[in-house]
Amino acid sequence: MAVDYGIHGHVAVITGSTSGIGQALAAALAEQGVNVILNGFGDPAQIETDRRRLQERTNAQILYHPADMTKPDEIADLIDYARREFGRLDILVNNAGIQHVAPVDEFPDEKWDALIAVILSSTFHASKAAIPIMKAQGRGRIVNIASAHGLVASPFKAPYVAAKFGVVGFTKGCAVELARTGVTCNAICPGYVKTPLIEKQVVDQAKTRGIPEDRVIEEVILAAQPNKQFVEYEHLAGMLLYLVSDMGASATGAALSVDGGWTAT
Ligand code: NAD
Repeated sequence: MAVDYGIHGHVAVITGSTSGIGQALAAALAEQGVNVILNGFGDPAQIETDRRRLQERTNAQILYHPADMTKPDEIADLIDYARREFGRLDILVNNAGIQHVAPVDEFPDEKWDALIAVILSSTFHASKAAIPIMKAQGRGRIVNIASAHGLVASPFKAPYVAAKFGVVGFTKGCAVELARTGVTCNAICPGYVKTPLIEKQVVDQAKTRGIPEDRVIEEVILAAQPNKQFVEYEHLAGMLLYLVSDMGASATGAALSVDGGWTAT
């Protein structure tokens, strides 16, 4: 372990951590000795293999809870699982997300409902359940994985942009409300990270725009990022570790860009 962030023995819930960014952030926390509750969809055997491997590799306790983040009662049970298993909850990472790319006038109503539920409403429900535990502890860290699309828009993604702007707004509201409790709330706003979600977007955008996939990557996806590089998982992990450590105590209500300069343009 290169740097010790002083969070050994803490407990984290990371929504949507069976894949992509959430899975990488779970590993980064577990490597610091944080006990992690994983969540997300996927093949149960694969999820169990990943859970066991991470536990064996890090010696942290790694559990899994199958809550569907569109269901408030299951979300409440996910947060309560941390209390039942560990008696505490130090870190909540609201990360679960989905995407659908289409012009607004063709956007299916049920996709709008699903995007708002998974991205925005789940952030509310999980935070609502976590805050009383964190307040009672006098310390807590809520980190919402928003997006550059929580700060600026792109075409064909209006519902995703709306949900992510909502997440940034909710982050600020929680932060000012909790400012004297020892609980911080921040949003990380990544640019493009090459995850399964982005790979699917490449395919979808190619169809929507009628151009080949390599042109989508160069001209559409990384067109927005001045450094012309996908964000790496470690760049997001670094920001998360800072926020959840004692060094992050004064950072609250921030929407922190990790986007290769995208939102500076
Ligand atoms: P991903 O598809 O690899 O992972 C999404 C995770 O969310 C999976 O574990 C999935 O099972 C879970 N999930 C989806 N619906 C769920 C539900 N109803 N209940 C429980 N879990 C559910 O995607 P990713 O790229 O790792 O995205 C993670 C987050 O980062 C999302 O909020 C996304 O909007 C955000 N983000 C991604 C990028 C990027 O470039 N990949 C950029 C900015 C922001």
